Amino acid sequence: MDLLCIRDLETTFLTDRGPARAVDGLSLDVGRGQTVAVVGESGCGKTMLALSVLRLVPAPAGRITGGRVLFDGTDLLALPEAAMRSIRGNRISMIFQEPMTSLNPVLRVGEQIAEAVRLHRGLRAKEAREAAVEMLRLVGIPGPGERAQAYPHELSGGMRQRVVIAMALACDPELVLADEPTTALDVTIQAQILDLMMDLGRSRNAAVLLITHDLGIVAQTCSRVAVMYAGQVVEEAPVPELFREPLHPYTLGLLRSLPGPGRRGRELEPIPGVVPGLTELPRGCRFHPRCARAMPRCREEAPPMLAPAPGRGVRCWLHA
Ligand code: SF4
Repeated sequence: MDLLCIRDLETTFLTDRGPARAVDGLSLDVGRGQTVAVVGESGCGKTMLALSVLRLVPAPAGRITGGRVLFDGTDLLALPEAAMRSIRGNRISMIFQEPMTSLNPVLRVGEQIAEAVRLHRGLRAKEAREAAVEMLRLVGIPGPGERAQAYPHELSGGMRQRVVIAMALACDPELVLADEPTTALDVTIQAQILDLMMDLGRSRNAAVLLITHDLGIVAQTCSRVAVMYAGQVVEEAPVPELFREPLHPYTLGLLRSLPGPGRRGRELEPIPGVVPGLTELPRGCRFHPRCARAMPRCREEAPPMLAPAPGRGVRCWLHA
């Protein structure tokens, strides 16, 4: 069995306009040491997916209303909160977009990493401090011994995110959930930080679930990709196959809206329209109002997840 098996996950929010299903019957597998990306525009539910896996959906408005999240064979949704707390930050760690959400502003960064190591790996204080400096060195922070004494506000955004990566990997997690880990950073260092995170994950045999709006960064970093639209996975494939032959019109649209060397001299083609509000989902295929290939059937019937080839899945009537 894969390390993480998400089955028919449903996460619902109560809104003024009624219940909104941010994650709607979503299934996804991540193998040990595998790097899987979840891609989609903002509002498609990908962050709620990560928060659901960690059981951090903001209550009381939001609630997991169905499905299973099997981690190493155990259903996280059925665990008592205390057991879940010991998995979070230990066997599963998180890296969020904004490093300051994970860092304590009044503690030196070295102490924060050491504290995480001490708690999760049971090291003594001195060993934990040494392990923290070693982690800072591994994430490419110059003068790690001195930087360990710095407070988060004394570091640049890029350095802070390196600290968060160090903290996330210091406990040798089996799974890292990274939600837009480089989006808040300067474009010039985004690729550097992402490569670092993926290399470190690989060298420690951690599986990585990377959540991003940017299909471009998936190409260099992940082995599988799931494309999300309006709370559902609409296409899933090994990364090379998705880029070679996208099957869902939405995936095709995402690829066409990517800048890149192959597109020199050609206009980018943004996907027309916006992701529908979750309380105003269209009948039939949720993508039909934006789809250039919509057929009458698409306006009436929602397509199921189809398997047109081994290892591939697509939610579109064109492949029925
Ligand atoms: Fe487009 Fe129809 Fe496929 Fe939906 S099912 S993506 S509307 S062709």
